Amino acid sequence: MNSTWKGSERRKSLRDQAEAMLGDIKAPETTGNPAEVMMHELMVHKVELEMQNEELRQAYSSLEEARDRYLDLYEFAPVGYVTLSREGLINEINLTGTVLLGIDRTKLLKRRFSQFIAPQDKDRWYRLFLSMMKNPKADAQDIGLELNHAGGTSIHAHLNCLPKMTSDAPTTVRVAITDITQQHRASEQIEHLAFFDPLTNLPNRQLLKDRLHQALAASARNKQYGALLFIDLDNFKTLNDTLGHNIGDLLLQEVGRRLLSRMRENDTAARLGGDEFVVMLENLSANPENAAVHAQDVGSKILAALNEPYLLEGHDYRCSSSIGATLFYEHAVAEDDLLKHVDIAMYQAKHNGRNTLCFFDQAMQVVVTGRAGLEADLRLALEQNQFILYYQMQKNHDGQTLGAEALLRWQHPVRGLVLPMEFIPLAEETGQILAIGQWVMENACAQLKRWENNPHTQSLHLAINVSALQFHQPDFVEQVQAVLTKTAIDPNRFKIELTESIAIKNIGDTISKMHALKNIGVSFAMDDFGTGYSSLAYLTQLPLDQIKIDRSFVRNIGEKDSDALIVQTIIGIANNLCIKVIAEGVETELQRAFLEQHGCLQYQGYLFSKPVPVEEFENLIKALG
Ligand code: C2E
Ligand code: CA
Ligand code: CA
Repeated sequence: MNSTWKGSERRKSLRDQAEAMLGDIKAPETTGNPAEVMMHELMVHKVELEMQNEELRQAYSSLEEARDRYLDLYEFAPVGYVTLSREGLINEINLTGTVLLGIDRTKLLKRRFSQFIAPQDKDRWYRLFLSMMKNPKADAQDIGLELNHAGGTSIHAHLNCLPKMTSDAPTTVRVAITDITQQHRASEQIEHLAFFDPLTNLPNRQLLKDRLHQALAASARNKQYGALLFIDLDNFKTLNDTLGHNIGDLLLQEVGRRLLSRMRENDTAARLGGDEFVVMLENLSANPENAAVHAQDVGSKILAALNEPYLLEGHDYRCSSSIGATLFYEHAVAEDDLLKHVDIAMYQAKHNGRNTLCFFDQAMQVVVTGRAGLEADLRLALEQNQFILYYQMQKNHDGQTLGAEALLRWQHPVRGLVLPMEFIPLAEETGQILAIGQWVMENACAQLKRWENNPHTQSLHLAINVSALQFHQPDFVEQVQAVLTKTAIDPNRFKIELTESIAIKNIGDTISKMHALKNIGVSFAMDDFGTGYSSLAYLTQLPLDQIKIDRSFVRNIGEKDSDALIVQTIIGIANNLCIKVIAEGVETELQRAFLEQHGCLQYQGYLFSKPVPVEEFENLIKALG
């Protein structure tokens, strides 16, 4: 029935229908009998009433249905509804609400709602509730908090609080509680991933930086020194390469556990990646010396703990580590710099022989900053033509000059003459050695070409040094060929000095390149022989023309019997393999005589000449006639 009908219209319609239902009964006006008229009116009225009753009954039943629907919706809604009195007592709660709190409705009514709020969130709740109660025009407010479940667990909930107003103040508050525990967990997990290393579950670099930031602020407040320890496992790569990454992972996890077990509760152990860990110690002491002693103490314990045997899926494993340490105090050093400092100190520890702890000091920093400057300068060196070749002569036993070794020097505009030991390793690290090596080869060959026109020098051989990176370039052979062709020299007078590490890196590649170059006349010397792997197995495979006895052995001739013995052995091997042998670093006649006596007939060293610029070298040769 259309509820917008006006009352009078509805009544008229009812009457019309009732009259229609009475049908044949004559209208009283036609008979004129008043009793009949009354009778008729009564009957119409009765029918009318019956019809009204039916209408009411229908309305009532649909009301009941609506109420049931509403109750269902209310009780089983995905949201818990609680109505709170002004005093914060539970006046009403739906079924979902009772499930969220874990208690029957009967036991919940008139209980204080705040009882169910986790202690850490109570304060915020009180503030919100009171502010609503005090405010006559309070609006709905939202709050996220933890609710205690009667079962002893807790849920994370989002509460939407709607005050019910009377004329001037809220009387009750309707609270809608949404369980957001799942979302909360998901976001916690995401946060965990962002801040923790999944393998060891330790804080990652990001979180460490965060904590360091806080630690520096705390240090500034409480005037206490703290320390960072940078821990790097020795030879981790070898373990990974030999036993596989799974075993490597097991080791890292165990290292994480051991670190945690050696620390106090407030310290932080983090994994930066790979085999690098950092431990942050706070509140060590107000005095730097004491703090350093503490840090050293913890570091030693960590070294010892990591040195204990490991059992990794049935594999017994021992592993040492190297630790770099630095103290921090207030904001004296920037966070990133602190991390750099411990990193440097760790490398120093490795350099000092592994399984050691080394503190960062300023002198070390100077070396490192110096290095950074060097790197930048090195980039300019080629462009600005700052490299020069020095030449050191090579002699045979009867004083004849056989040739020379070209040794690189860097004429730095400010630093002066820089020796290769100071820049070659850096150039190798940065890859600049490729361009530098190319320059050396071109210039050495150009020099050989010039010597062809000078009767004193035309028969000399010239050797150059080649780095591993340079030699293992796929087109190294072609590069050499191109230079030889361009400079049009006799390849038979050109020699390349290799080191054992080059050969070891890729023996197949080394052999094939050597053969290719030997086919066009280039010869090869094995430099620094005896200092590396000295494996006879590879020595016999390489088409070598010469072995150079390292100067560290030559130096000890007449002083250390074991080194003298090594020298004798090397000479013996070379002679057996029909490879010529030359001794480098010959400084005294005594050394030379020993070498000659044992069959080494070629020498290079200060006894004859230091490496010198080309003009000086040529003058020496001329003087020797
Ligand atoms: P190396 O190839 O073993 O060179 C021999 C080194 O011994 C040279 O040092 C030389 O000056 C030094 N030396 C020669 N005779 C004596 C001696 O009687 N007593 C002493 N104490 N030392 C002597 P230098 O020139 O400082 O070169 C060091 C290293 O730098 C070389 O060792 C070589 O490995 C590398 N190097 C030099 N030039 C180049 C280059 O052009 N390319 C590459 N890749 N490396 C180079
Ligand atoms: Ca050399
Ligand atoms: Ca050498």
